[in-house]
Amino acid sequence: MTNEELWQAALGEIELSISKANFITWFKNTSILSSSEGRVVIGVPNGFAKEWLENKYNLFILRALRNIQKDIKEVSCSITATQSTTPKETLRVDAVIAPKKPSPLVVYAEKSREISQENNLNPKYIFENFIVGGSNELARAACFAVSQNLGKIYNPLFIYGGVGLGKTHLLQSIGNEILKSNPNSRVKYITSERFTNELIDSIKNQKINEFKEYYQKIDLLIIDDVQFLSGKEKTQEEFFHIFNYLYQLNKQIVLSSDRAPKAIPTLEERLRSRFEGGMIADVSKADFETRLAILRKKASNESIIIDDQALNYIAENITNNIRELEGALNRVTVSAQLTNQEITLDFAKSLLSELISSGKKKGINHSHIIKTVSEFYDINPDDLITKGRKKEVVKPRQIAMYLMRSELNYSYPGIGDKFGGRDHTTAIHAYEKISRELTINEKLAKEISYLKDQLYLI
Ligand code: ADP
Ligand code: MG
Repeated sequence: MTNEELWQAALGEIELSISKANFITWFKNTSILSSSEGRVVIGVPNGFAKEWLENKYNLFILRALRNIQKDIKEVSCSITATQSTTPKETLRVDAVIAPKKPSPLVVYAEKSREISQENNLNPKYIFENFIVGGSNELARAACFAVSQNLGKIYNPLFIYGGVGLGKTHLLQSIGNEILKSNPNSRVKYITSERFTNELIDSIKNQKINEFKEYYQKIDLLIIDDVQFLSGKEKTQEEFFHIFNYLYQLNKQIVLSSDRAPKAIPTLEERLRSRFEGGMIADVSKADFETRLAILRKKASNESIIIDDQALNYIAENITNNIRELEGALNRVTVSAQLTNQEITLDFAKSLLSELISSGKKKGINHSHIIKTVSEFYDINPDDLITKGRKKEVVKPRQIAMYLMRSELNYSYPGIGDKFGGRDHTTAIHAYEKISRELTINEKLAKEISYLKDQLYLI
């Protein structure tokens, strides 16, 4: 088996264990660079992917590779020169997933393709497996009501709340519910990022009219994460027209965002007032009972055998969001399988305690920030601190300053001090610049959220 075949087969399996979004984000443009004596080196496009793969997905990768070649012991990543973040790259992942030659693993790849190409709905997101609690009951009720009265009540429906709290699950449940009762309905689920990319492509290829016609035929349009429309004027304008057209025909529109419409910066006023014209419901952090119920449901759905105390322990300690909760359960499950052990309280504790205790803010200080940022951007920590003007360290330095303010509440003169005695105005400038950019630059937002994860979780 060549390295390429091995990696294609492994990707087919990995894709099954993680979300589609994560799979595309983290595994695009990866390859096996070398494999010898049980050591596999994976080539990744940037430091971002390297950290993430090594820290978060190491076990998934190892398990997938071992299922194919038992003697593999160790996986590491190395940055390769090719680097690209254009939307087109997403497609290449799909090409990689489907091995060119038929192999038993094609079955996996096809199974994971249950996500419809036409409407983008993932059949696993349904109301039946959404656990209701105080944190999400209004949003769930509104989504369910819409699914029973399409276009007749709550139009548009706007759901907002932090990451990993079930927005996408709820939005897609509406689509799946509609298709269950009326398979001929035209349902479209799309993220605002993809909507933007499609729009840009259609303009480039002079197919803008087809683009509009396509959207104007839809009965239920679901646009996820509309905060990413922020700052994209042309997209907002087209969206506004499509929105009005559908709305006038009583077609249903459902939207989600990580914040309320009024808190989305640079959202055109007329679009904002349209969003606010319907029903707005939020999802917030789940309470303990809900978290436990979600874990129970997931464990039983996936036939995971896990001690009740271990489940309690996870539910008690992983409080931030549901994605992390599921991640923690996955982590113990995968490790238990790999090492052939039962999931007891002690086992869960030994795996998760480090993650949980280091997640407490009190543990971190300015040197952690400097270390994390310089490792991530692959620069020397001294260059970050000292007064040199090397171009490649300017941005990382501003980010480190930003994090010292946002995470540790440092004063501006205090920050200047830690960075080689710089003036406090430099720190103010850095903080404000990054704060501003964060709202319009998705890549930066992802990087910063990743850096925070590194600071607290690992
Ligand atoms: P968001 O879109 O808000 O970032 P997602 O809808 O992607 O969050 O949810 C993250 C994960 O948590 C998904 O796998 C989803 O199925 C699961 N999840 C979230 N809330 C619930 C819930 N109340 N019951 C069951 N699963 C949930
Ligand atoms: Mg989502």
